[in-house]
Amino acid sequence: MESEIAHHRLVEERVMARRLEAVAATAPYFSLALLASVLILVLVMEGSAPWPLLLAWAGAILFLLAFNLGPPARFLLRNFFPVPDRNDRSGRARSRYALHSLLLQAGSLVWAIGMPVFTWYARDEQYAALGVVGTAVFTGVLLMHRYMPRAAFFHVAAMALGAMASLLVADGWGVWPIMVLTLIYAVVLVRAILVNDQGFVEGIAARVSREEADNMIRLLLKEYEVQAQDWLWTIGPNGNLREVSPRFAEICGQDAASLEGTPLLDLFLPGARRERLASLIEDRRAFADELLIREDQGERRYWRLSARPRMDGRMTGVARDVTDNRVIEERVQYMAHFDDLTGLANRYSFNERLTRELQRRERKDHTLAPLTLFYCDLDDFKGVNDTLGHQAGDLLLREVATRLEGQLRAEDMVARLGGDEFVVLLAIASGDGMVIERAHRMLSALREPYRIDGHSVVVSASIGIARSGREPLAPDELVRRADLALQEAKRKGRDQIALFAPQLDAAMRERRQVEQDLRSAIAGGDLELHYQPIIDLENGATVAYEALARWNHPVRGLLSPDQFLTVAEETGLIVPLGDWVLATALRELSLWDGDFRIAINLSPSQIRAPGLLPGLAAALAKSAIDPGRLEFEVTEHILLNDTETSLAALQRLREMGASIALDDFGTGYSSLAYLRRFPFDRIKIDRSFVTDLETSESSRAIVCAITQLAEALAMKTTAEGVESAGQLDLLRELGCDEAQGYLIRTPQPAARLTTARRRGETEVLDYRKARVSSMKRSGQAG
Ligand code: C2E
Ligand code: CA
Ligand code: CA
Repeated sequence: MESEIAHHRLVEERVMARRLEAVAATAPYFSLALLASVLILVLVMEGSAPWPLLLAWAGAILFLLAFNLGPPARFLLRNFFPVPDRNDRSGRARSRYALHSLLLQAGSLVWAIGMPVFTWYARDEQYAALGVVGTAVFTGVLLMHRYMPRAAFFHVAAMALGAMASLLVADGWGVWPIMVLTLIYAVVLVRAILVNDQGFVEGIAARVSREEADNMIRLLLKEYEVQAQDWLWTIGPNGNLREVSPRFAEICGQDAASLEGTPLLDLFLPGARRERLASLIEDRRAFADELLIREDQGERRYWRLSARPRMDGRMTGVARDVTDNRVIEERVQYMAHFDDLTGLANRYSFNERLTRELQRRERKDHTLAPLTLFYCDLDDFKGVNDTLGHQAGDLLLREVATRLEGQLRAEDMVARLGGDEFVVLLAIASGDGMVIERAHRMLSALREPYRIDGHSVVVSASIGIARSGREPLAPDELVRRADLALQEAKRKGRDQIALFAPQLDAAMRERRQVEQDLRSAIAGGDLELHYQPIIDLENGATVAYEALARWNHPVRGLLSPDQFLTVAEETGLIVPLGDWVLATALRELSLWDGDFRIAINLSPSQIRAPGLLPGLAAALAKSAIDPGRLEFEVTEHILLNDTETSLAALQRLREMGASIALDDFGTGYSSLAYLRRFPFDRIKIDRSFVTDLETSESSRAIVCAITQLAEALAMKTTAEGVESAGQLDLLRELGCDEAQGYLIRTPQPAARLTTARRRGETEVLDYRKARVSSMKRSGQAG
């Protein structure tokens, strides 16, 4: 509300200022033209009209002109149109405007009275000259003052009356049709001025709104920049820096003004990397994480740059100083093998050791005792953490490590896998009885009370045991068996031990069954794709279809991805499944007309799979679909592990022409950070924000911020899960580009959609319906 008032005030102030500017711009010509008109009229009437009258009339006009331009105007302004507050800009403008308007009206009045009076004195041959001068003044003054509507109206009215009076004086009532015509023209002119002025005011209002939006975006960007450890930059079409932010300038050690307009490339040392950047910029190609070297006060700094082109010919990007990462990398390398907290071996070195030991046994060495793995987990460690705090928890873990080490010989291995999970790896030749005996000794050592921060704490542990027998076992399998045994021990209660047995695999086998079913479903045609249209919020047109996998299970019925994707992910089946999805979607949708986008979901392991790109190329070749129509949807999970590989794969997909959307945006805890890592083409605003859009102020604010940020970063936005017309309207208001949801259409098989499309039952219809119903609703509410 407050901002609305400010907006109106600003518009009013601008309108006033522009009116005055427009008048000032034409003032010299206006004065010259008027001067000439007065002179000519006096010359024409010289001899016919009495001299005193002529002089008085011309004097009045010249007096007004002088007033308008010279010091008398300032005097009048000070004394008769005072502004209470010197700093009130709009007040000053208003009083100047009022004065000008008044002087103009006075001028019009003098002319209007002069016309019939001169006509009275004029001889027949002078009428023509009088008419021409009168018409010239009538239209000229009007044109020059069309941005001062009140004066213009007065001018039209006065001059029209003056003209009619002249006609009456010259020819009497006989010329009434011409008088009527004059009247008609006067009305038309007034109407034209009104329309013209409305356009003028609206144009200014629109400009003010645009500026306000720009400011908002700039504010958002600034906030984004302040929070981030990297900096935004923009370059113009020829590669020169534009809109250099103070922060960026500070990082470069120069002031913003001197950086403005200088080539971005100049910031970096010459060499192959800079050449590469130069060609990327020249080709206006999006790029990510380009490493560049610059020299800063004799020191080498490494920067990573990412950027993408914008519609307006500029490029926007981010820069980050990664010099320190090199130091960190070394430390990470050093720390890679040890657990920070306990000083024990970590998961990585445990895996290495286990693999090595198993390989030694597999090769030949039957003299070596078989390996036994104890998988140990504290009972209710979380309780300790919650009641005594994390610091106490850390102390406890350290003590556990010490006690386990106390049980072992130097050649045995104990490692912490993370959290409260420890493993002990022993070479034991004797039978299971001995192994269990060792486990009991470990449990009783761990069961002794701990003294932590003056408290006495008692915790127990559970141990699962797996042994590598005669047959060769993969390292993962040994760990898996020990883990299964641990789960069994936990099922029995606290402070328990369990040894792996084949029946523990039963549960496992069931999962395998799902895996197998899924495998044959992929091969045998039990999978199908449903497609959900995505519409353009601007005009309701269907601009994309998202492919969503369904499993038509012979026993369990139609399964949604949530019911089988996890298994598919864990077993690697996601890769053939993904290939199938891609090929099927392209095949089915290539039959439809239109250049809508085809949206495909990609899960993390799919992106890292080496077969993704060849599979894509093959599917594209078969269906003859332009790769530019493909859009891949990924969630931020892809950036959690093995980020570099994933980013490189995404980059390659983009190079093929496909676009990349960031799915479920806002659900992760660092979504904003991910926008910096990759130049996504689109943000899919998660359903959770759309669901309570109508009831939650904060959801609205978030969606608004997302759309603004997206616009600034040249990304598009799609809102997911739109279920009501109200949501649709709000999304449009908040500047969202596209929408998808049950309101528009639920995901449906291609066959169903084909029929719908043939019948012309398009989303546009549904969309209109939705709009109408939402308008009705808001009408009722109001
Ligand atoms: P997603 O990418 O976020 O897909 C949107 C999900 O929301 C779909 O569920 C869709 O049916 C549902 N939805 C659409 N509009 C509405 C609405 O108005 N209200 C509600 N409540 N829900 C709506 P679906 O089909 O069960 O898919 C679930 C997730 O499974 C997808 O989430 C996607 O991440 C994943 N997925 C689906 N198909 C594939 C696939 O082929 N490959 C991969 N890797 N993942 C897939
Ligand atoms: Ca999706
Ligand atoms: Ca989603």
